[in-house]
Amino acid sequence: MRASDVLLVAAGCDCEMSRTGTPMANQIIRNQINLTLIGAPGSGKGTYGSYLVKSLNAKFLSVGDLLRDHVQRKTKIGMEVALAQKRGELAIDHTVAKAMHDSLDNIETLNVFRRSRHVGFIIDGFPRTHYQARLISPMKGTPVEAETFPEHLRVHYAVSIQVPDSICLKKILGRRECSVCRKDINVCNIDEDGFRMPPILPDPPCAW
Ligand SMILES: [Zn+2]
Repeated sequence: MRASDVLLVAAGCDCEMSRTGTPMANQIIRNQINLTLIGAPGSGKGTYGSYLVKSLNAKFLSVGDLLRDHVQRKTKIGMEVALAQKRGELAIDHTVAKAMHDSLDNIETLNVFRRSRHVGFIIDGFPRTHYQARLISPMKGTPVEAETFPEHLRVHYAVSIQVPDSICLKKILGRRECSVCRKDINVCNIDEDGFRMPPILPDPPCAW
């Protein structure tokens, strides 16, 4: 499935596809669909993710936020991540996978418990390696490893967000933090070559 298809469905776009409804589009609306967003830093994964969770009534999970939370709470996972950061390394594969597994499991358990009927989850930042991809979306016919995620925690589709490097770079350079509420914002306004990525500014009462 193309990223544009998912986004059109999510946006309720009155296009040919959303009016006629492809089997895939219907499936997304009816059943639980777990997606992962893949794209370079600055490509808008977080922004698309926040639109999609509202439109699809899904849960959003950002691996960056998740690991930062672990570090802040000084959990065992957080300590390992902090140590890797100190050494200038990426967090260890299986540590990140464990954090993801536990968080998704928690989200899905709460979903069943509360009967909140969200249609699935949307992930930003996982998988980042071949090992992680094998755990969350094992290929048919390959042996299931001990750490492979159970069926209900696997992703069904990867949505690739493709934005030119030059635009990603501008968006990365536009990142700021609100001095009042500490929320991440972006002051860069992109409107070029068909890409429209407006600034993300703080909500009132924070002034900018
Ligand atoms: Zn603010």
